[in-house]
Amino acid sequence: MTAAAPSLVWFRQDLRLADNPALHAAAGGPMLAVYVLDDAAYRYGGANRWWLHHSLAALAQALEARGARLHLLRGEAATEIPALARAIGAQSVQAGRLYAPWARARDEAVAKGLQADGRELVLHTASVLLEPERLRSGQGRPYAVYTPFARAIMAMGEPPPAIPAPDRLDAVEPPPGGASLAALALLPQAPEPDWAAAFPALWTPGEAAAQARLADFAAEEAGDYGRGRDIPGIDGTSRLSPCLHWGELSPRQVWHAVAGHGRDAGRQTWLKEVLWREFSYHTLWHRPELPDQPLRAEFAAFPWQPDDRMLAAWQRGRTGYPIVDAGMRQLWQHGWMHNRVRMITGSFLVKHLLQPWQQGAAWFLDTLVDGDLASNSQNWQWVSGCGVDSAPYFRVFNPILQGQKFDADGAYVRHFVPELAKLPDKWLHQPWAAPETVLRGAGVVLGKTYPQPLVEHGGARARALAAFAALRGGRA
Ligand code: FAD
Repeated sequence: MTAAAPSLVWFRQDLRLADNPALHAAAGGPMLAVYVLDDAAYRYGGANRWWLHHSLAALAQALEARGARLHLLRGEAATEIPALARAIGAQSVQAGRLYAPWARARDEAVAKGLQADGRELVLHTASVLLEPERLRSGQGRPYAVYTPFARAIMAMGEPPPAIPAPDRLDAVEPPPGGASLAALALLPQAPEPDWAAAFPALWTPGEAAAQARLADFAAEEAGDYGRGRDIPGIDGTSRLSPCLHWGELSPRQVWHAVAGHGRDAGRQTWLKEVLWREFSYHTLWHRPELPDQPLRAEFAAFPWQPDDRMLAAWQRGRTGYPIVDAGMRQLWQHGWMHNRVRMITGSFLVKHLLQPWQQGAAWFLDTLVDGDLASNSQNWQWVSGCGVDSAPYFRVFNPILQGQKFDADGAYVRHFVPELAKLPDKWLHQPWAAPETVLRGAGVVLGKTYPQPLVEHGGARARALAAFAALRGGRA
């Protein structure tokens, strides 16, 4: 009897052992697990890389507990993967399918390299509920509107059960030449400042922590999600976005975890948010220009007014609008921002400051631990009014009213903008309007301890609407 040929399990954005169809396909025979850091194909943002470092460490440990090692490589996957498959005599490379244009191009190149000596790349559904090609609207086209998309997925009923993690793995020794985790240089590198200093107290990357968080959230907070999800000053959402981005959890596991606790309104609403992620992947697959080009073509002529000073003030949380500044500082300090505030800060950048949405999307991708090409691009286009099923451009969020409504007790702003902490609620979201005595009493000197507003809300709103009108009239 001849021994079974080994296979290679190529981990990418499916950094988990449970419900991992690529690992499952390989687990019956000898296998080698590999991760390739391929900065030439796509360079993940800084905060993403911090998460990746720790998630790879957790994955390596989990594999070791089952008798296998995680082989790490740095280089171009299109060369490294076929070479590794050849070196260990693997007939197939098993991987979870990815949907971003850069990953599609790379998978084509890897598949070609493997085919050249009779091997194959096998891609499995690992990070969505349903492959984007499988879902078509009544007209036979991809969905361009979220609600019927979500309805169609819900109508398909329960997804198949999640696959358990393998108990033992039959590991093949990797050839020499692997990289150490430290050599991947994923953490902030001196002389750059350690911008991730606060992350370890806030986040625990890795599958085990993700599973525990999902179980807790599905059992407890999810029931209250409808009430808590819009208040940035409380812990009302799951914070599972980085786990879903890196595939420490599969959407199928999420679905079953929630369904296991019933279908009350809170849990239904939460599941629908998870379907926004699915919709983003659907859109990215069918419209690969999503990260760079407005999907509504007329927006290509939008009269943006690029201005580095405006962009820097927004990035640093120094716009003079407390809810915007709190959000941008949360992003920098925590690598994450509450969804309501992502909408407010995004709208402020593109409408109040007339900065191109691509600039905001790039900053988010670099600073979010959940920075995700599909969800980020889709949401920036949504905020900017130029995507499919977007908020209309003429709906300009008022940062004062948004602050007063969603941070009524000021807990969020006071935490992230401590220089305003002593202002009474009445003035917290518009310090420039406070009487001088109130400012003095709170220790606030506008222009010194806290910035004057970068733009005046009414004027900025009118300017944004005029730019939009010019676009529609073809005069931009
Ligand atoms: P929960 O409220 O607990 O939701 C559960 C899960 O559903 C999330 O983890 C996420 O996977 C998914 N989800 C929720 N809302 C959305 C949404 N609007 N679009 C897509 N998926 C959603 N999300 C990212 O994962 N990566 C990004 O890069 C990203 N960029 C964004 C940029 C902007 C301008 C905006 C407005 C939103 C962006 N989002 C992004 C969506 C959303 O803000 C985050 O998914 C959410 O805040 C993550 O927190 P949570 O895990 O506590 O979410």
